[in-house]
Amino acid sequence: MYYPNKFIIMPEGPSIVILKEAVNAFKGKKVIKATGNAKIDMGMMEGQKIIDFKTWGKHFLICFKGFTIRIHLMMFGSYCINEKKDRAPRLSLNFGESEINFYTCSVQVIDEPLDEVYDWSADIMNDTWDAKAARKKLKDKPGMLVCDALLDQHIFSGSGNIIKNEVLFRIKVHPLTKLGDLPPRKLTELVNETHNYAFDFLKWKKAFVLSKHWLAYTKNVCPRDKTPLEKKYLGKGKRRTFYCTTCQVIY
Ligand SMILES: [Zn+2]
Repeated sequence: MYYPNKFIIMPEGPSIVILKEAVNAFKGKKVIKATGNAKIDMGMMEGQKIIDFKTWGKHFLICFKGFTIRIHLMMFGSYCINEKKDRAPRLSLNFGESEINFYTCSVQVIDEPLDEVYDWSADIMNDTWDAKAARKKLKDKPGMLVCDALLDQHIFSGSGNIIKNEVLFRIKVHPLTKLGDLPPRKLTELVNETHNYAFDFLKWKKAFVLSKHWLAYTKNVCPRDKTPLEKKYLGKGKRRTFYCTTCQVIY
């Protein structure tokens, strides 16, 4: 598998999994020098070995003995492996012969054991993803819009705006449907297809064909019935939403 060593991404969970795989060779290596303009104690990493890399949704986790560095690439974060950009990194880890640089991201130190901080079963990319638990969380929020639910990191950790749009198109549900109005069958489809689409996203992104497979996101016309797609800024975060008023049903 070829991994590009540079990414500018609006990261959703699958992209963070790709980052984790791209830096896998650094596992077990000792940090010689840690620099950057993130407001953390850089010295704590120096001389320390990276024990593991983990991801939780959109969080990228660099695990050291006794503490973890949490990187959130936010909307415009990026990273370079063995390359530099012409601006200051938030965090730069130097291993002597090689380095990883992170830009435009949030960097924090986690002192607690990760199992106390993260519910791994809420992460759509994690092996322990729990569809039943996600379904229960959805049932507990009948007033929530389905377009907001798909961005809620406590329900679908790792899901983002691309996943939201594509999943709603796949399951033919209008983004302004309230969770409590969804038939049980659709609720199950919502949970299952979010997980399925995330792994299609991962596969397509690795093959550089993700955008070729978009059916609704950034599209003008419904591929099913040729209706012009609506483009509106919906939900709590007013995020870009593309949908078909012919085949996506409001319940
Ligand atoms: Zn349609």
